[in-house]
Amino acid sequence: SMGVESFVGWLRDVAGAMHENAGYLTELDSAIGDADHGANMDRGFQAVVAVLDESSFGSADELLKKAGMTLVSKVGGASGPLYGTFFLRFGTALAGVDPITPEAIGTALHAGVEGVLARGKAELGDKTMYDAWAPALDAYDAAVAGGADLGAALTAAAEAAAKGRDGTVPMVARKGRASYLGERSVGHQDPGATSSTLIVESAARTLR
Ligand code: ADP
Ligand code: MG
Ligand code: MG
Repeated sequence: SMGVESFVGWLRDVAGAMHENAGYLTELDSAIGDADHGANMDRGFQAVVAVLDESSFGSADELLKKAGMTLVSKVGGASGPLYGTFFLRFGTALAGVDPITPEAIGTALHAGVEGVLARGKAELGDKTMYDAWAPALDAYDAAVAGGADLGAALTAAAEAAAKGRDGTVPMVARKGRASYLGERSVGHQDPGATSSTLIVESAARTLR
């Protein structure tokens, strides 16, 4: 069954993915933003790893809320509060939930993404991280409804997130810094949709 250590494994794996992809994420952000997304994500998740190394957590919700607060305080910019809110709400949704089932993870994912929307007000097609999360949630829900286990549902979500990420290329940005470019944002992949896909892919690798 899923315990705190499952989520510790996820967060450590995300940190590794952000570190490996920092250059790539920053390159994407240099085309339509201010060339800091990789550095932001790497710094934020290294700070999360430092917290994991220093402390132990009695429950998944405590751990994930602390990760969220760490991201808010260390990342800054647009993505810090958005990812911070994601993990805060994701963790809060798991408070007192035992056992943590695929349905409970679905509820937590929805709560996290609702937090992103409450903060950022993005709509589908605005060329943001939401364009990766929305299809990921749909695919996750469909897989769980079809009887998939957690790993299979997250794998379906990761594939959908990657398609959503690729789908941001032809979009005109309507939120965040990239929106200042208007039509000139067309032809570039959204950095946040790319980092969000890394987070879902990491979940598919690690959460069991
Ligand atoms: P900043 O733009 O402040 O430098 P980052 O470069 O770290 O922040 O993050 C940029 C990413 O944040 C974008 O690629 C986009 O996916 C996401 N983003 C920006 N504004 C919003 C928003 N209002 N809603 C959802 N996502 C957003
Ligand atoms: Mg940026
Ligand atoms: Mg910035």
